[in-house]
Amino acid sequence: MKNLWSDKDSKKLSGVEMLAYTSRLIGANPDLVVWGGGNSSIKCLEPDHKGQETQVMYIKGSGSDMRTIEKKHFTRLRLEELQLLEEREAMTDEEMVEYLGHTMMGGNQPRPSIETLLHAFVPHDHVYHTHADAITSLTDTPGSQALIRKLFGKELGFVPYTRPGFTLSKWVGKIAKVDLNLKGVILDKHGLITWGRTAKEAYDRTISFCSKAEKFIQAAKRKRPASLGRVTVKPGSLVEGLKRRVDLLPVIRGTVSESQRMILLFDDSPEVLDFIGRPGAARASQLGPMTPDHIMHIKPKPLFIQNPSKDPAKLAQQLKAGLLLYKKNYLSYFNRYKDPKLTQLDPYPRIILIPGLGMVTTGKNWQAAKIVQDLYHHNLRVIQNSSAISRFQAINEKEIHRFEYWPLENYKLTLLPKEKEFSRQVVLVTGGASGIGRATAFAFAREGAQVFVTDLNVQGTTETVEAICQKYGAHAAEGCVLNVGDEKGVQTAFEKCVLAFGGLDIVFSNAGVAKSSSIKNLTLPEWEQNLKVNATGHFLVAREAVRILQKQGLGGNFVLNATKNVTAPGKDFAAYSSSKAASVQLARILAIEHGEDGIRVNIVNPDAVFEGSKLWEQMSRQRAKAHGVSIEKLKEFYVQRNLLKVQVRAEDVAEAVLFLASSRAAKTTGAMLPVDGGVKEAFLR
Ligand code: ZN
Repeated sequence: MKNLWSDKDSKKLSGVEMLAYTSRLIGANPDLVVWGGGNSSIKCLEPDHKGQETQVMYIKGSGSDMRTIEKKHFTRLRLEELQLLEEREAMTDEEMVEYLGHTMMGGNQPRPSIETLLHAFVPHDHVYHTHADAITSLTDTPGSQALIRKLFGKELGFVPYTRPGFTLSKWVGKIAKVDLNLKGVILDKHGLITWGRTAKEAYDRTISFCSKAEKFIQAAKRKRPASLGRVTVKPGSLVEGLKRRVDLLPVIRGTVSESQRMILLFDDSPEVLDFIGRPGAARASQLGPMTPDHIMHIKPKPLFIQNPSKDPAKLAQQLKAGLLLYKKNYLSYFNRYKDPKLTQLDPYPRIILIPGLGMVTTGKNWQAAKIVQDLYHHNLRVIQNSSAISRFQAINEKEIHRFEYWPLENYKLTLLPKEKEFSRQVVLVTGGASGIGRATAFAFAREGAQVFVTDLNVQGTTETVEAICQKYGAHAAEGCVLNVGDEKGVQTAFEKCVLAFGGLDIVFSNAGVAKSSSIKNLTLPEWEQNLKVNATGHFLVAREAVRILQKQGLGGNFVLNATKNVTAPGKDFAAYSSSKAASVQLARILAIEHGEDGIRVNIVNPDAVFEGSKLWEQMSRQRAKAHGVSIEKLKEFYVQRNLLKVQVRAEDVAEAVLFLASSRAAKTTGAMLPVDGGVKEAFLR
């Protein structure tokens, strides 16, 4: 394991700044901690609010990530008050949390880590706690204690598995005080704690213990390279390219989203395929997590599909049956340790392993599914390492349950901001690179949706996706180029969307073209081009959408962007208005045909949206001519034409689309909503 310490970078640092620096070094190595795992502390003398020198301890705040941690993510506590607790016999989690609250120096600090007292009771200034793969590979074996003694001799203490809290803190404190030469302790089935007189010493020790463990594991693996058996299901043996995954993901999503929708991520990396292709993985994957810290994300165990069928329809059935059985087993597991105070959590797995195909992980959004994916890569490595040493063994089921339903862990969930209106939903937008499409894609992302942007314009699509991710986080949006008039292209775009996020909930069918010309001058290619995009394009998009939505079985929403011209046509606009009228009729019939699937279909009728609109760029000159005004006066003409005397913007249309696609419009389908500032000729009758 590489030691990342830099004398140059750390030269001017001290106190909590030094702690933050070293914590980031630890966080930079995913083999030590990932996604919010681990914690660190420093004890030092600092003036308190009265200016009086006081013994303080800084500890990582609950929920922050060591990879990016800064000074502000640590909580400053009065060390003396923490150490007083060592005299106590016992303390409940609630008493401990309340007490810690009183020792915080100053308000507005993050809630201190649950392992705060453990750090406080260790009589050394610099303390680091990690869930290092190499160390847990040793602890997650049946003979862990003897193994650790053999490997680390008197350098490291050993604590049999105990859940984090007061008892564990006292235990670690005691071991550290009895032998002041110890450099740290190993927590069985959990991780490593190291300490030192300086931050560098504690960090160096973390790296050197892990390196030693890594060397030992490498040797064990050389001796037993196939501890889980040789690969019997060859990577890719179930993959027939894109198609298979696209068939399966909506089926999985439809089932695991029973109480709340999930975003799905697919992983067919060689590492995953190699692991699940070995016969021993079926059993080993069911034994629990490498460290209890991961349970909140990955749940007690994954779903493992044994002998997956090569027939897609049969495999879909296997998956559905597997998920339902997982749920049944989860409910009996929950009931085995029943406690009236507990509320049952989601009974479906976060990880689905399909030998020959890959791993599907689920989460409330792309990032949550990605965290599960990353954590499982570490879990499967540890399973393989421990199996090479002897065999993998995690904490027992009762402890897994206690951890999964531990109020303090669940408390973290209550700290999360309320989910946004379109959280957990996948939205596909056509014509999303500019104008109304772009504004609507942004609005959905703002409200928490995963957005899939499509457009004919390559550069515009990329730019929109990047801008959304910049503003709303990595992978908030994905996208691809799409000509909605191309049957194959539409199919491919929907497949890409399903592969990106696992399914589909909402489609904003928006892409359109407009030709302004009198009927007598309109050419056949111009007429046909308008029909192809404005009528056939919506048809192809709608057809593909309902096929996926039906397979998923969660209902869905389709919003069509029509135009005020459908209800109040103007001259020189035959190709545009006629093709748009066709799309409106298509939408109504879509509403009729799929009402019973819970798919709602609604229409927005905007008028004269100029800003950022490619469509208007192309035809404002002709429209000015048709209305008999100069091009400079066209905007004003449209403002004066509506009852509210307002300019209609892309963002106004976006709000109407969001409303129609939201549960606020749950009882509305087949409806048309004008967004035109009030054009009385276009009133619906
Ligand atoms: Zn831990």
